[in-house]
Amino acid sequence: MKPDYVDVAIIGSGPAGLSAAVELRRQGVQRVVVIERENTPGGVPRHCGHPPFGFREYGRIYSGPDYARRNVAEARSAGVELRLGHTVTHLGQGGCLHLVSTAGAVTLQAKRVLLATGVRETPRAARLIGGDRPLGVINTGALQAYLYLHNLKPFERPLIIGTELVSLSSILSCRRAGIKPVAMIEPNVRATARWPLSLFPRFCGVPLHFGAQLLDIHGSGRVEAASVRLANGQLARFECDGVLLTGNFLPEASLVRQSHLLLDPNSGGPVIDQYGRCSDPAYFAAGNLLRPVETAGWSYREGASIARLLAKDLRGEIPTAHHTLAIRCRAPLKLCVPQRFAPTGVAGLEHLQLRVSQATEGELTVYADGVPVWSKPMACLPERRILIPVAALKLNASIQQLDVDFVGHAHATPAQGDTP
Ligand SMILES: Cc1cc2nc3c(=O)[nH]c(=O)nc-3n(C[C@H](O)[C@H](O)[C@H](O)COP(=O)(O)OP(=O)(O)OC[C@H]3O[C@@H](n4cnc5c(N)ncnc54)[C@H](O)[C@@H]3O)c2cc1C
Repeated sequence: MKPDYVDVAIIGSGPAGLSAAVELRRQGVQRVVVIERENTPGGVPRHCGHPPFGFREYGRIYSGPDYARRNVAEARSAGVELRLGHTVTHLGQGGCLHLVSTAGAVTLQAKRVLLATGVRETPRAARLIGGDRPLGVINTGALQAYLYLHNLKPFERPLIIGTELVSLSSILSCRRAGIKPVAMIEPNVRATARWPLSLFPRFCGVPLHFGAQLLDIHGSGRVEAASVRLANGQLARFECDGVLLTGNFLPEASLVRQSHLLLDPNSGGPVIDQYGRCSDPAYFAAGNLLRPVETAGWSYREGASIARLLAKDLRGEIPTAHHTLAIRCRAPLKLCVPQRFAPTGVAGLEHLQLRVSQATEGELTVYADGVPVWSKPMACLPERRILIPVAALKLNASIQQLDVDFVGHAHATPAQGDTP
């Protein structure tokens, strides 16, 4: 089968993929194709039927579906080709992609590929929840698709698990549909979402239990109840007709896992250098595939930044990296993106992005060849963004080793307003 040749193929039409596509066209790249497995483009915001999306991008506030439509319209008017209903099934060496659609299989050869396949929530099986297997146990993504795309109510009185931003937005989605959550539970001692947003469940009349662990789901056919161990050790039974498993995001990296590209076990996404370039330099990556989890706005801006670097690379302005350094980080740091640094002397992404695995207060320090080059006292919480400005590190092309260390102590005191 003869391949179709393109300049850049982008996998995924979410905010990162579409903003990258528009930016590449602005940079003069000729043939830019976005491949999307769904028949409608736009990514996750398409089924987030609530504001606020798009303020920094377009100077006004959109609902998720309107924001997705705006991103698609911008891409179309920039001359981006959208190939919908096509799933990429294989990433080959040097940018050779296998795609399938209802029309059959095709091969696409791109000079560069941008991976922008986003994140998904951890499903029930991977959360090791015991009990029966009744209908009514779903993720927020499925809830939003039921409500906003198909106009269906999957339950009336769910128990919500998790306190991330997406968990709070699920309360909004439930309220709009007339669904009344019986409670929200969180295994940690504080909410994952920032105060004062973490007050939102109680403001909506949804009881919030910290330090509570979902043990069992009961029901023959449909969900009838859920057993929970509360913070004081007591067992509680919540009568409910559904369980909503929220957040606990993982990069949608199935393609990367099956390919020749290096995967970072810490972030769950592909290993990139400071240009967004993967271990095969024909591949770049952007958006939430890189790490769980950021907002649509962040993913949009990251898509555009990495597209600028990709366009530079196509013009030959980024030297080939003969060797790259692994950026080493230790617990309590959980991940660092980018994972590698190419000592080329040409500037790349603005920040190192980090996360901690537990609430920590202390001193965050970057060492170049064992010498501290940047340091800042910080109090950090899991799932919250930590940024180190790369320009402030003043890294030169002769550097041999880069380490990031966070020396401090765990702090588990609930923040003001988070206490039960
Ligand atoms: C359930 C859920 C709710 C969320 N709610 C919010 C919210 O309210 N506000 C917010 O700011 N963020 C929210 N997020 C975070 C969300 O990830 C970002 O808003 C944003 O969508 C990330 O953009 P992206 O371009 O990286 O990926 P996505 O928007 O996820 O787009 C990835 C696209 O890649 C496509 N794709 C994946 N694999 C393939 C393949 N093999 N072949 C072809 N196409 C493929 C997918 O179909 C999808 O359209 C939510 C995420 C989830 C999962």
